[in-house]
Formats: sequence, C-alpha cells, structure tokens
Amino acid sequence: MIKEQKEQWQESIAKNITFIVTKDCQLACKYCYLVGKNIDERMSFDVAKAAIDYILTHWDLFKEDSVVWDFIGGDPFLEIELIDKICDYIKKRLFELSHPWFNSYRFSFSTNGLMYNDKRVQNYIQKNRTHISIGITIDGTERKHDLNRVYKNGAGSYKDVVKNIPLWLKQFPDASTKVTISSTDIPYIKESVLHLYSLGIKNGPIIKS
Ligand code: SF4
Repeated sequence: MIKEQKEQWQESIAKNITFIVTKDCQLACKYCYLVGKNIDERMSFDVAKAAIDYILTHWDLFKEDSVVWDFIGGDPFLEIELIDKICDYIKKRLFELSHPWFNSYRFSFSTNGLMYNDKRVQNYIQKNRTHISIGITIDGTERKHDLNRVYKNGAGSYKDVVKNIPLWLKQFPDASTKVTISSTDIPYIKESVLHLYSLGIKNGPIIKS
C-alpha cells in the first residue's frame, strides 16, 4: 500500500484540496484578489477536520493516486499552529485508514514570505520537510515589487521578503516564485527576471498578469 514517493509524483496526477485558513494578511497588495481582509474569518480546526474526514472516507469520490493539501490565505503562515494541527491529523488518519495517499501526499503553501524565518514556521518545515513545497512571492526588483506589494501604510515589503530568500532556497533549492505583471510595471519585466535569477531563483518565474 505504501508507495515510493518519487515514482508516485512522477507518474500520477494529484488531487488538489485547498484550505483557505485565514482572510488576514500583513500586506495590502494593490492587485490582491482578497477583498474584505479581516482577522475574524479564519478556519476552525473542526471545519478542517470535518472536510478531512469526509475526503478520506470517500475513496470512491477521490480516486487520484496522490494528493496536494494546499494552504492559502491571506497569508497562511499567520495560522501556522492551526496548519500544524491539521497536518498532524491528516497524517494520523492516512495511517489509521491505510489510505492509498499515505506517503503520497504533499503540503503546499503560497506565502508572502514575511514569516518564513518565524521559529514556529521553521519547526513546522523541519517536521514535514520531505512532504512540503513552498512558494514565496517576490515580484522582481525592489522598485517593481514595491509598486504593488505594500503594507497597509503604503510602505514596500521588498526588504522584509528578500532577507528570507536565502534560507528558503537553502531548504528548497528548486523552488520557484510567481510574478504578477500589471500595466505600470511592464517596463521592469526584464530587469526583474534577471534579478530573480541573481537571487538564486533559477526555476521560473511563473508570470501572471
Ligand atoms: S500577500 Fe497575497 S493575500 Fe496578502 S495582500 Fe498580497 S496578494 Fe493579497
């Protein structure tokens, strides 16, 4: 029943299951899709548990060989303690059920990177190291990034994100980033792609517009 992880990820199409764990974020990016950010709307463990129980006991409805448990927000790392609890529960239930997804799962994150060096986040990464992928969003050079990716007071976030890139790449050398292009920053695309490459992000970037 336990599959070889490498073989599994190369050969199969995974089921994607997304948890929006919070509508809170430290940033107020100008192109953000999340309107109505707030600190009150956050997923409870009971809601997550009910979803996991349903999914893992309905093998007939979820026939993919592998699964990606995706955590987004807001910034998901604001809820790292909840996520740790959710992931522990998933691993426990996969084992108890002898589920085909046991050892054939991944926990995936899209984050603004501001909390990447937080001790709780790092503990979580160490604990789940072989089953994680993390994407930190950095939009390119400082002037391009700070055109859109700003704090609520309007200040740019580039400096606070870029300081966490070396640790991220040390832990995930093949990581890639997403770059969002808007009409105002089209002139900075070339320098931004080169800049990301110089930071060591050699995979990608994935460009959105
Ligand atoms: S980091 Fe993401 S969720 Fe937060 S404001 Fe920016 S785009 Fe929105």
